[in-house]
Amino acid sequence: MSDVAQFSTYHPGTGELFGTYPITNDDEVATVVAQAKAAAQWWSSLSFSKRRAILLKWNALLVSRIDDATDLIVAESGKPRSDAQLEAALACEHVAWAARKAPFYLRPHHRSPGLLMANMSARVDRVPYGVVGVIGPWNYPIFTPMGSIAYALAAGNSVVFKPSEFTPAIGLWLAKTLQEIVPEYQLLQVVTGTGSVGAALINSGVDKISFTGSTATAKKVAAACVERMIPFVLECGGKDPVLVDSDADLERAAEHALWSGMSNAGQSCIGAERIYVHHEIAERFIEILRERASAIKAGINYGAATRPAQLEIIKRHVDDALTHGLAVVGDRSSVGERFVEPVIVTNVPEDSPSMREETFGPVLIVNTVLDMNEAIQRANDTPFGLAASVWSKRNGEKIAARLHCGMVSINSVFTFAAMGSMPFGGVKESGMGRIHGPEGLLEFTYPRSVVKPRFHLPLEFTSFKRTAFADKVLTTLSRIRHK
Ligand code: NDP
Repeated sequence: MSDVAQFSTYHPGTGELFGTYPITNDDEVATVVAQAKAAAQWWSSLSFSKRRAILLKWNALLVSRIDDATDLIVAESGKPRSDAQLEAALACEHVAWAARKAPFYLRPHHRSPGLLMANMSARVDRVPYGVVGVIGPWNYPIFTPMGSIAYALAAGNSVVFKPSEFTPAIGLWLAKTLQEIVPEYQLLQVVTGTGSVGAALINSGVDKISFTGSTATAKKVAAACVERMIPFVLECGGKDPVLVDSDADLERAAEHALWSGMSNAGQSCIGAERIYVHHEIAERFIEILRERASAIKAGINYGAATRPAQLEIIKRHVDDALTHGLAVVGDRSSVGERFVEPVIVTNVPEDSPSMREETFGPVLIVNTVLDMNEAIQRANDTPFGLAASVWSKRNGEKIAARLHCGMVSINSVFTFAAMGSMPFGGVKESGMGRIHGPEGLLEFTYPRSVVKPRFHLPLEFTSFKRTAFADKVLTTLSRIRHK
């Protein structure tokens, strides 16, 4: 028998054993990070075009083996094959975008030195941090961490990835594929195990942490990073609202809100959990939602709950919602042993736990509002601020502008996540910092200001030889410029 500490993963739909993995111990984490530091030194010394070529070659390999990735995602997350395939394909989109755009967004920027320093040239370089520790969740086991991994690599860092204990296989597979392209250096490594391995990673000498997971864990991660004075990105949970105005296309609004809330078994950080619908069209909207949801089945349209403990939270929220509200679709028996059938409830008080805490299951609560002012006020009245969806033919932009969240889709849901160019992240308890887009590339570098004289002025300001005449010039210029 092996004396290496291990853990196992199971098919969420059946409970069958899938894989057994070592729990990386603290010494091993330290060794991995030391190797990553050597890799970062080499990687950051390459030109942008060389890094782009290597990452695009890696991406081509990933795409050519997308079926293997899909198999692993299906096995450990329990989602349907087509969802897993879509997830893997979108992850590859981000690798390509980050690789292609890093040279442009991270190039040195020349800045104006200003009148007083007119003899100087000034520029800002974007410098990779070194080793980025990526800590990931289980709900989108390739897409979510890739939002950090691809952007950190494209920016010139090496990466050590700690996947969720429920979905380590795809992380290990990713590291293996990059190793095939770059056998000489450990550009992407994976440490496996429970939360304590994530904690060890933060303390192992990494230069930045990119965390995706629950707000509760994010606070521990942030505290540990502050203790070490390393920067961090936090991508956390949400309680995302959908706002449906009286002029909305109700068929489309209902269809997309339903998908947003139920797909991936409701386990999407940017998935709908609350719907605020204008009272004039509420009855019709709820009727369409009921019809469509009645045709959705767990195990066919979406998979099992990936994390068994989440079922307890879903059960508690369904119970709470049904105690205070009216069932539209489903009941208490909808929460099964492994699968959760769709649940839709109306008229749930805003202060109930099912309206305030993240459910992370296929549960939608629909509350009727007098107008969009009330919808906006309720949508914003939560500790979270991740994403929102607005449905209105005329007022989409106006409503969107008043929402306190990191991402808004007008007459659509989710699509920003598939766009390499769009930053992804939240405000309030949904997190800080951004992955994806130019902001996601910048996130994995720090600005270094570099200045040098283009010619020497007869007036010296930064010298003990500064004269009374120089003082006079300085104060006169100041007075002229700022009066
Ligand atoms: P958790 O917070 O439970 O875990 C996230 C990761 O952190 C896991 O790898 C976990 O390891 C690790 N971890 C746990 N404790 C520590 C610690 N003390 N120090 C360092 N790492 C630790 O989240 P879930 O995995 O349950 O993911 C679901 C959550 O993620 C939801 O709230 C969801 O909204 C959010 N999410 C947010 C996204 C976003 O982009 N905003 C995207 C996707 C999900 P282990 O698994 O072994 O416990």
